[in-house]
Amino acid sequence: MNIVLFGPPGSGKGTQAKLLAEKYGVPHISTGDILRGNLNNETKLGLEAKTYMDKGELVPDDVLIGLIKDRLSDSDCASGFLLDGYPRTLPQAEALSKILSELGKNLDVVLNIDVPDEKLLKRLAGRRMCVCGASYHILFNKPKQEGICDLCGSKLYQRDDDKEEAIMNRLVVYQNQTRPLIDHYTQAGVMLTINGAADIEVVFNGICRMLDDLRK
Ligand code: ADP
Ligand code: AMP
Repeated sequence: MNIVLFGPPGSGKGTQAKLLAEKYGVPHISTGDILRGNLNNETKLGLEAKTYMDKGELVPDDVLIGLIKDRLSDSDCASGFLLDGYPRTLPQAEALSKILSELGKNLDVVLNIDVPDEKLLKRLAGRRMCVCGASYHILFNKPKQEGICDLCGSKLYQRDDDKEEAIMNRLVVYQNQTRPLIDHYTQAGVMLTINGAADIEVVFNGICRMLDDLRK
C-alpha cells in the first residue's frame, strides 16, 4: 500500500512508521530523516536545509519535491511506501499526485494521527534521538539504560528543533501551512483519522486494524 502518515510534529508519525515498516515490509520514507542525514554528511542540500530546520521553518518546496521524486522512483517503493513528514504544503501535495501518476501509482490512504496540542509539546520536549535513527522519549518510551540507545549503544541526543522556541514555531507552521491538507485529502476521499493520544501500542494496533480493513 502507498500510505502517507500525516499529523502535527510529535504526533507519532516516525514512531508508528517504524513499527509499520517492520510489520508490512514497506520502506519508511521520512523527509526529516533524509534532511538530517544530509546535514550530518554536510552535503549542499543539508547545509541549505539547516537554516530552516533549526528555526522550525519548512525547507522550500522545490527542494522537497525533487527529493521525494527521486526517492519514490527507487525500486524498493515498487510494492508500497510509508511517507512520513511529506507532504507539508499544498504545492507538495499537488506535486506528489503528479509524481505518483507519472510512476503509475496511486495514494491509497492518508492516515491523520490526531493528538491535542498540550500532548505534542510534552512529546517533543522529551524526545531523544540516536544517530542510528532510533527515537525514544524520556517518559513515554524510555531506553533500557538512560541516555543510551537500546539498538546500537550510542549516546542519545536532543534535536536542536526540539528546544522550546523551535517547537512553538513548528506547531504554528503546522497550523498555517500543513493542517489545511486535511481538507484537501478529505475531499480527495483518502483521509482516515486515528486517535493518536493513546499509548504507542494502542495507536499501532488501531492503525493496523484500519490498514487490514482497507486491504480486504
Ligand atoms: P513525529 O514523527 O510525528 O514528529 P515521533 O514519532 O518522533 O513524532 O514522536 C514524538 C515523541 O513522542 C517521541 O519521543 C516518541 O517516543 C513519543 N511518542 C510517540 N508516540 C507516542 C504515544 N502514542 N504516546 C506517548 N509518546 C509517544
Ligand atoms: P520532521 O523530522 O518531520 O519533524 O522534520 C524536521 C524538519 O525538517 C522540519 O521542521 C522542516 O524544517 C524539515 N522538513 C521535513 N519534511 C519537510 C517537508 N515535507 N517540507 C518542508 N520541510 C520539511
